[in-house]
Amino acid sequence: MKLLMGAAVAALLAGLAGQASADVVISNARIIVGDGKVIEHGTVTIQGERIVSVAADAAPAPTPGRRAPKVVVPAGQTRIDGTGLTVMAGFIDAHRHLVGGPAAQFFNGPAQARMKELLEAGFTTVQEGGGDNALSLELKKRVASGEIKGPRILASSRWNISDMKTEAEVRAAVRAAKDSGADSIAEVHYPAKEPPNPPTFVETRNFLAALDESRKVGIPMQIHAVSPASTVEVAVMGGKMLIHTPHFDWLKESEADVIRDAGAQVASCTGFGPPVFDVFNKDNKPTFRDGKPWPQGIVSNEGQGREGGLLPINGRMLFDHGVNYAYCTDTTYNATESLNQELKTLNLAFSIPDIIKIMGPNSARFLGREKDLGTVEAGKLADLVVLGGNPLVGFWNFMTAEVVIKGGEIVLDKRGSPNAGKPMDKPQS
Ligand SMILES: [Zn+2]
Repeated sequence: MKLLMGAAVAALLAGLAGQASADVVISNARIIVGDGKVIEHGTVTIQGERIVSVAADAAPAPTPGRRAPKVVVPAGQTRIDGTGLTVMAGFIDAHRHLVGGPAAQFFNGPAQARMKELLEAGFTTVQEGGGDNALSLELKKRVASGEIKGPRILASSRWNISDMKTEAEVRAAVRAAKDSGADSIAEVHYPAKEPPNPPTFVETRNFLAALDESRKVGIPMQIHAVSPASTVEVAVMGGKMLIHTPHFDWLKESEADVIRDAGAQVASCTGFGPPVFDVFNKDNKPTFRDGKPWPQGIVSNEGQGREGGLLPINGRMLFDHGVNYAYCTDTTYNATESLNQELKTLNLAFSIPDIIKIMGPNSARFLGREKDLGTVEAGKLADLVVLGGNPLVGFWNFMTAEVVIKGGEIVLDKRGSPNAGKPMDKPQS
């Protein structure tokens, strides 16, 4: 009896302690849950690295001039007054190139700067799209340890499998990628040459061997296929993680159905097509995403810039036919600018609720992280972006990150800074 009471008291105390030890509380905020629900005035409570509750506030937010009820803040707790702010799941880029150059040089500046830009844009998870394998793993390690402040990094291991001599060599490369600790293999081109070049026999054999081995050892393969025909072919062969919306032709409904039925997922990269402005020059000249003149500068371009139309419309076709359509930029330039470009192009064919779905739950699922990421729900990791603007009004308000929280830790707080809450708060460069 005594023992039971002791246990009951201990449980009660633990419960109380649990309640009192919320580490971060965001109240009075608009909460975009990510499952279609929006809470106009609500509170998100975070304990450790996870969200413990998401609830509508019992009373409406205090009106200006009326004193808010006094809240006793326990020691060690951070409270964020979310009045006028919007909380949503931290942004996810499912394919972006992060690493490059010699290691010493990379970690001596660019790494920190790129990671900071991603946080400032609101990103809390980024899948590395394929660069130097060692750098990718090292970046993940340094960010995870807190040595570099940045979003969660999913490291990749890149192998040029298409011209390997034997299947055994391909399978060994896949196992080496897995053993290295990489989260994925990136990025495998199929076919190796852009359309209309067909895949060679060796390429197809190697691709199938890589897919088979990657399934066996449990490491996903980021696949670069860019025409409707190659996208369908990859899906039928069993590829699941496609990192480009096809753009060499209009995607047919029947093709979208085949891709869906095969269980393949596609990430957007729609910003690849239409011109970029005001990033690489200030003279109103359209450029490709690397600063080269548009449309001639589009990689493997068809000459007239029609990629700009094909990408968002084919994306819509995939989305409407039930393919899990996720968000990615496949780029390297400034995170806020490339977020703006991607959203601008998605905005042609998708509503704001669609875009929220694409960036949140769909991208989490694309990465196999739907249990932890993508929505603002109790039990998920506290990866959140707090926006000064209301994204439900327009995509430009996604570019207003004021606070970013990763795994319960506040990794960016710009509240009170002169540009806080303003769309396209461009970095001084
Ligand atoms: Zn890429």
